[in-house]
Amino acid sequence: MKAITEREAIKVITTHYIDGAFVESHGREVMNIIRPTDGQVIGSVTLADEEDTRRAIDAARRAFATYGRSTTDERAQILRRLHAAASARRDDLTAAMVEEYGGVIQFAGLIVDSGISAFQAAEKALQEIPWRRSWDKTTVTLEPVGVAGLITAWNANALFLCLKIASAVAAGCTVVIKPSELSSLQTQVLVEALHEAKLPKGLLNVVTGLGNVVGAELVRNPDVAKISFTGSVAVGETIMRDGAATMKRMTLELGGKSPTVLLDDAALDKAIPAALTMAFMNSGQACAAGTRLLVPMSRLDEVKRAILDAMRAFTVGDPVDPNIAVGPMVSQKQYERVESYIRKGIEEGAEVLVGGEGRPEGLEAGYFVKPTVFVNVKNDMTIAQEEIFGPVLSVIAYDSEDEAIRIANDSKYGLHAAVLGTDIQRARQVASQLRAGRVVINGMTDDPQAPWGGFKYSGVGREYGRYGIEAFLEPKAVLE
Ligand code: NAD
Repeated sequence: MKAITEREAIKVITTHYIDGAFVESHGREVMNIIRPTDGQVIGSVTLADEEDTRRAIDAARRAFATYGRSTTDERAQILRRLHAAASARRDDLTAAMVEEYGGVIQFAGLIVDSGISAFQAAEKALQEIPWRRSWDKTTVTLEPVGVAGLITAWNANALFLCLKIASAVAAGCTVVIKPSELSSLQTQVLVEALHEAKLPKGLLNVVTGLGNVVGAELVRNPDVAKISFTGSVAVGETIMRDGAATMKRMTLELGGKSPTVLLDDAALDKAIPAALTMAFMNSGQACAAGTRLLVPMSRLDEVKRAILDAMRAFTVGDPVDPNIAVGPMVSQKQYERVESYIRKGIEEGAEVLVGGEGRPEGLEAGYFVKPTVFVNVKNDMTIAQEEIFGPVLSVIAYDSEDEAIRIANDSKYGLHAAVLGTDIQRARQVASQLRAGRVVINGMTDDPQAPWGGFKYSGVGREYGRYGIEAFLEPKAVLE
């Protein structure tokens, strides 16, 4: 753990980013920033209050009067500047994600890169949108919805913030961002970076504070037209309900309990490492994590052996080490949540194949859990139905392809799914029957132009590409 003790001194954040400047917080509450690898205080952040939030909304409202009328060329130019500004701090952003969140460096770099590339992707998508269409005596234009409140979770800060900013800015909206309070250091680095893009004042505002203070103000404020939220189902429900009073437009990116369907013709030497990567990516703290592995009964023993073999690559430890695949949980609370699910799995009769309760040996100081694989899981068990948001995989056996599809869809969630198999036509046929916003075949891949979002309790609306931009637009028809 040498690398951990050698890191920098305490960082103190007392400002918010409002109207193009870093301004001292009106809110007085101070929160410690805790390093998850050893529980040490590494910084503090002064949290915004309602007054800070209203100032930020006001700045965004004023800026919208001009920016809302910008041309697509002007927006494309701003997206290019944002891309250049974020790229210049790529390594700092990655380092902050590793230190504050405990993201393993091999994955944190990918998250930051996809955040940065979101600006380029939005610029490309912007060119594909039919901004104006006319027929007969009718003209339809796509207008920005207004000031957007962007509220995010803690598990991929740079990606969520860049993605939401990129889509909103491409649409012509101005924004007030409420990042997770557990991402204050990462947000500070990103905002310092984006400040260098020299945006019109008030276009981008950032207020870090608590959800029930800053987030709630964004949701109820009549000057905010749209909320784009990434987080839990429980908070998503609150936001949808409270936002109704001011008729907010909503994009809600919520949880998942994603199935990975292993077909009986899968080549296990590739399929099992792919399945484990999808289960344990971002230390299991990923909305898209493939946490239910559906396995043909006829190959169950073989699969168990392949998992035991492949798990050797899923080492847990200090996230700065490039050989480490699983880092700590973000907080003590998250550690306890994951442990409670592992206990629940054992109580309900699932069998621990790998991992189990308690901290891994030598990692007692931080919020580390053991990457855990359960077998003999039934799909109605708590560990197969609820989102754990940690490195816990449930292996569920099935008898027929139809049963696999039924189990995969037997979930309140529908964010992501995967199919692993050799016959690609057959894999596609299975994919077509899965009720999820995204289905990947033979491993985790991404396409920034493809929509991202959930069926059922996984959310409302879509992000990424033109789908993400359209979520910030209102069609307007003029008839002569
Ligand atoms: P959370 O719902 O607790 O918090 C998310 C954000 O909402 C935070 O910024 C929080 O401060 C804010 N918030 C809390 N109460 C609020 C309120 N009353 N009004 C407005 N804002 C409020 O979620 P989390 O613990 O930060 O993140 C984990 C969850 O996020 C998981 O369920 C995960 O699946 C989900 N998630 C979804 C996606 C996706 O793309 N679908 C991606 C990542 C994470």
